[in-house]
Amino acid sequence: MSLPPVIAEAPPAGPAAGAQARMLERERIANRPKHWVRLVTACNSKCLFCLDADTPRNVYLPEDEIQAELRRGIEALGADKVILSGGEASLHPAFPALIRYAKSIGYDRVQTVTNGWRYADLDFYKEVMAAGLGEITFSLHGHTAALHDHLTQHPGSFSRLMKAMVRALRDPRGPIVNMDVVINKQNVAVLDKIIELAISVGVTEFDLLHVIPQANAYDNRDVMFYDVKDHLPVLHKVFALNRHPRFVVWTNRFPVEFLEGMEDLIQDPHKMLDEVNGRRFMVRNYLDTGRPLDCRQPERCVHCFIEPFCATMDRTIARQRSGGFSVWQPAEPAEALPDPLPFGCDTVGLRAQSWATLPPLRLPAGAGLELQLDQPTPLPAALPAPFVRLIIDAPEALDALIGPEAPPLPAGLHLEVRLRRATAAWCLAQPAALAAAAAALGPRLRLHQPSFEHMAEATASDVRDPAAFFSKLASLGLPPLQVSGLPACLAPGQRLQAAIPRLAAADFEPETGRLDIRGLARAHVSTQYRSKSVRCRDCVVNDRCEGVHINMVRDQGLKLCRPLTAGPWAADAQAQLQAAMPTPPQRPRDGAPPEVPAPSLPGFAPVGPVTDPLAAVAEAQRARREERARARAAGAPLPPLNPFGPRAG
Ligand code: SF4
Ligand code: SF4
Repeated sequence: MSLPPVIAEAPPAGPAAGAQARMLERERIANRPKHWVRLVTACNSKCLFCLDADTPRNVYLPEDEIQAELRRGIEALGADKVILSGGEASLHPAFPALIRYAKSIGYDRVQTVTNGWRYADLDFYKEVMAAGLGEITFSLHGHTAALHDHLTQHPGSFSRLMKAMVRALRDPRGPIVNMDVVINKQNVAVLDKIIELAISVGVTEFDLLHVIPQANAYDNRDVMFYDVKDHLPVLHKVFALNRHPRFVVWTNRFPVEFLEGMEDLIQDPHKMLDEVNGRRFMVRNYLDTGRPLDCRQPERCVHCFIEPFCATMDRTIARQRSGGFSVWQPAEPAEALPDPLPFGCDTVGLRAQSWATLPPLRLPAGAGLELQLDQPTPLPAALPAPFVRLIIDAPEALDALIGPEAPPLPAGLHLEVRLRRATAAWCLAQPAALAAAAAALGPRLRLHQPSFEHMAEATASDVRDPAAFFSKLASLGLPPLQVSGLPACLAPGQRLQAAIPRLAAADFEPETGRLDIRGLARAHVSTQYRSKSVRCRDCVVNDRCEGVHINMVRDQGLKLCRPLTAGPWAADAQAQLQAAMPTPPQRPRDGAPPEVPAPSLPGFAPVGPVTDPLAAVAEAQRARREERARARAAGAPLPPLNPFGPRAG
């Protein structure tokens, strides 16, 4: 079957083909398994935007603990690259030894991020290079000593950083050198000058970090936060460097909405997993005890890159508590199912090769079955549950079930057709069969736009411009269909539905029955992480719209967002969404109150609070200070100042 033009030949809505290939390569690089290991929280700068200032200060983590964490990266996470971080990692007295250790256990590359101070000393530089340091990211925040030293609050830091960076760049056997800049109100206007300075000494790779409302950055918000739209020309000028074959630019935590036309600069969504991991103790306590994250304040959340994850977390908890989930996906098709199904689920979701390979089912009384079959095979004589939803994502299955030759469908059968280029092509090629199925099944038929964890999957699967597809369907005489997974602007003329809420057993910790943080973060990236254009502010459904999935945005561009401002579809979409959501959904940035925790899986006891090991170290340090004060008062020998520090005996 030849593909209809709207599917196969329309130019991509987003980046051009060459740029798209480059984005896929960036995705591959960004997803290289790497492991961040903190060595210290101590730092010899006091940056006005420091995000770490809320963590207990001056902790030097014990060498054996760091070694264990390095091993965990290889053994449990499969990382081949490690980033030794801090504070300022080079302050750890065992820094060279830890580089050697990381190399000895199999890391292909050892990287660090630094203010450069110690690397200005030639002996130190030679020692860490001999140990095997392979990549150095220097943090430069100003194009002049006055600006950089002001931001770091460390006189002399600019000249030492430049000396160290130039040395590393000129070293013929030296490390890979790149640079990061924390963009803030003080330096955003001269960002191009900072980059020009770096280019003049030979830097070609840049990581541009957007200031976020944590720690010092929040305390100094009056002089740190800036309005992005006031500085778009200089920001876009620097971002455009990424188009030059000699340079690589990454953004970090930069608001997606301002990257229209520069979607290649959107940070890989998996960065969210690192961000969540960095807050895992706070997240754990929120999920288990309801204690909000320390930073939960609407005026912070509104600037926060992690806010979409926090909104997902809130919604998941609320839905668990209210029993608002629908489909329970067991980890193994044959595993014993909880009865009743947890969190309001009334349907068991399974994937199987065919009807024949489906294991014997012991569904809870009255439960339905949702089934995704890899091979389209004829329906069994009798459905195995009072309610069966088949997930269809191949034209062959559409032919078999609702094609012109297909037999009538039994009552109790529902179809969710996954919108992909191949299924969309089938719909356009078989409008009469689709219209007949819609008439026969009514709301039991829906088209669902799936979302994907990686952009490569979106690129391979997604219809180019779903709005054009639905307009074409309508022009073929199709009545409005039930559609989920897309914002109103991408499903014109259709009946807008929320996606069916699904919960996977794999998203829970087997030992505790609590939601697994990494699983939740991954599910967020795959299904909930959506974004909009700045132009969406003009759209009549903006307050009830989540936007477009991040990987569809990266693949096809924010230009997909076409604000509904007037006309019949704007009025219809507004009425539909108002009926479905009489009150616009609230989220952390709107001031939504923290959620009360949801219960664990049935059969598991509630879980108490957890303590951040760094907080335990800080507590030990506080106790040691008191011990020293008592020893001093008694004229006794003083115990070492820092039980975990370089002077520990
Ligand atoms: S959204 Fe709010 S609560 Fe969540 S991490 Fe950001 S500032 Fe903290
Ligand atoms: S708010 Fe944006 S994404 Fe949502 S329907 Fe309107 S234009 Fe589309």
